[in-house]
Amino acid sequence: MRDTDLFQMALGLVPPWMVKRSAFDATAKRLDIYLDFGKGSRFPCSECGEPDCPAYDTEEKTWRHLNFFQHEAFLHARVPRVTCKGCGVKQVSVPWARPGSGFTLLFEALVMVMVQAMTVAETGQMVDEWDTRLWRIIHHYVDEAHGRADYSDVTRVAFDETAARRGHNYVSLFIDLDCRRVLFATEGKSLPSGLTRGMPRLSPPSPRTWRPMAEIPRPLPRCAST
Ligand SMILES: [Zn+2]
Repeated sequence: MRDTDLFQMALGLVPPWMVKRSAFDATAKRLDIYLDFGKGSRFPCSECGEPDCPAYDTEEKTWRHLNFFQHEAFLHARVPRVTCKGCGVKQVSVPWARPGSGFTLLFEALVMVMVQAMTVAETGQMVDEWDTRLWRIIHHYVDEAHGRADYSDVTRVAFDETAARRGHNYVSLFIDLDCRRVLFATEGKSLPSGLTRGMPRLSPPSPRTWRPMAEIPRPLPRCAST
């Protein structure tokens, strides 16, 4: 079996995508896999799903992938834009990454698992990436999850301000009292007024004390990212 066939199977690529070649550099501890599609290939429109759209032009892109053993791995491909009858010229969606990301979906999944067990800085050290790049991944999936969240069954909430680390680093938490889930978390000692406006406090504010509130206004303000 050729290395390109092996990588094709391992990556789960289906036509028209294929592995064109690979390059392994033991000194640089790096594996580069180059993907391509056959001449005359057609792609679905990423906007409306119209199938069989012809390629208009291409743009070279690179994605960080899961390590190949101890070696960093990167995928490269020329990503086509297609001509859709209804939408005009649109870039196609590739099956291994989300639009605009420099990482493959599998790499992002690994990062999202790791940051649940350690800090983002520690994760960045382990995967050898800047934590600022990892934060962009995290913000994307947290925002996406908040967008899907349904707060229509929330009836009792509370918020708390507590020290996150030694010193005066505080976080404010907005909690669903019945489901014991965090609805919103932010740095600092006070939540945005938009979240608490119109909510009566049943006890005077004091640090480290839960403040249950009643009569939640509808609709609830959409939570920002944590
Ligand atoms: Zn379209």
